[in-house]
Amino acid sequence: MSLLHRAGLWASALAPLLAATLAMAAEPPVVYVQPLQPAPSERALAEVVAALQAFYPVQVRVLPAQPLPKAAWYAPRKRWRAEVLLDWLAAHMPVGATKVIGMTAADISTRKGAVADWGVLGLGTMDGKSCVISSFRTTRGVSEATARERLAKTAVHELGHNYDLDHCPNVGCLMEDARGKVATVDGESDLCSACRAKLAARGVNVPAKPAVPWRAPSK
Ligand SMILES: [Zn+2]
Ligand SMILES: [Zn+2]
Repeated sequence: MSLLHRAGLWASALAPLLAATLAMAAEPPVVYVQPLQPAPSERALAEVVAALQAFYPVQVRVLPAQPLPKAAWYAPRKRWRAEVLLDWLAAHMPVGATKVIGMTAADISTRKGAVADWGVLGLGTMDGKSCVISSFRTTRGVSEATARERLAKTAVHELGHNYDLDHCPNVGCLMEDARGKVATVDGESDLCSACRAKLAARGVNVPAKPAVPWRAPSK
């Protein structure tokens, strides 16, 4: 009896602490979106947030817009170096943040193989803290709605790199390599089962049917 009683006391003394610990564990990690001026529209931003929230078990918060950091300016091509932006974003992350996604309407570029300055839709550090996306290459010849879909899909792709996903050979997977063609993105809609399994192995569980803010690709 006395043992049980003591156990009961212990349990009641520890209950608040245990509850607090569980609440901390249940709180999803925070991923910040950092608009970099010139930034995409509010509607584009909302779709990026919705897409990230659909796939990743995180809290997405939007930071106040900031000008693109001058250190990333690449004068020869009048555009912005994505890898410099990644370093800047990681260095300026709010306390307690796990990841940050820079988002701009300006043209961004990086080295790709033998090409010293290659324009990109986005760039993300593998297993890292920062990625960056640009709407600049999403707009040509398509509706604003399609351009927004491309940007939102790019956000899911680049954050996937931050979660250590590499490019995926499965056609239609959001982790496909665009191979320089933005139209590749139009054929994508979801993460494949292989990419989902890799994410699940590191505790990132993607819902079976993510509430994506885009239409299913026409086949
Ligand atoms: Zn990629
Ligand atoms: Zn995949």
